[in-house]
Amino acid sequence: MTEASSLMQVQELDLELLKCASALASMPQQERLKTIALAAKKVASELTGIIGQRKDAQIEIDDTRADLEHYREKTVEVQGLADAGEHTHREIRDFEQQLTSLAKRIEKCEFQLGPLTERLGRLERAEKNARLTGERLEKERAATEASLAEGSASLRARIVELTRERERASQGISAEHLAAYEKARKRFKGLAVERLVGNVPSVCRVKLQPSLFHDLAHGDEITECPYCHRILITSEEGQE
Ligand SMILES: [Zn+2]
Repeated sequence: MTEASSLMQVQELDLELLKCASALASMPQQERLKTIALAAKKVASELTGIIGQRKDAQIEIDDTRADLEHYREKTVEVQGLADAGEHTHREIRDFEQQLTSLAKRIEKCEFQLGPLTERLGRLERAEKNARLTGERLEKERAATEASLAEGSASLRARIVELTRERERASQGISAEHLAAYEKARKRFKGLAVERLVGNVPSVCRVKLQPSLFHDLAHGDEITECPYCHRILITSEEGQE
């Protein structure tokens, strides 16, 4: 392999290495993981809110049941007092008033328990759904992480392979030309070497004047393009 073809090979390998690095940085799983993380955060925050409301609803029900029990006990107590012995009309009226008031309170508590229980049921269902969504997102996150690890593993392996090939190919290039290539590679963002195809350089495609072409064709095989200043290989592919 000539120095010129080694140079072309190194450039091809470097271009593929660039593609691999860019593919690694922009793997679709990266974007997906961000979306999943945002969704999981939203669900977690919703769940915290629902749990708070569910606990409040439970406390309200417990309090109402405790009140109800207290009013029922009180009713039994007042009824017992009313039933025991003789009472004046006024006493009887007081007992009746107390019992009426207790009956109203009991009715109110019983009435409240219906909507409160319904509300608790709604919140319990919402909590269950939020937990299921959280679990689903967690599974999706794990699967995406695994897919990313798998996908990036093959890319990383390819990068290692390309780097080794590049090392081998660059051994066929003089230190001077390699340094010129590295410099031109940065300047031209990868496409640092071009090759003559007839009398046209392959990258800038500015047709060489006949006298210039004659001079270049009879000079060094590796030179500089007079137009774009890339490294120019004057031999044609397969003819070096
Ligand atoms: Zn050129």
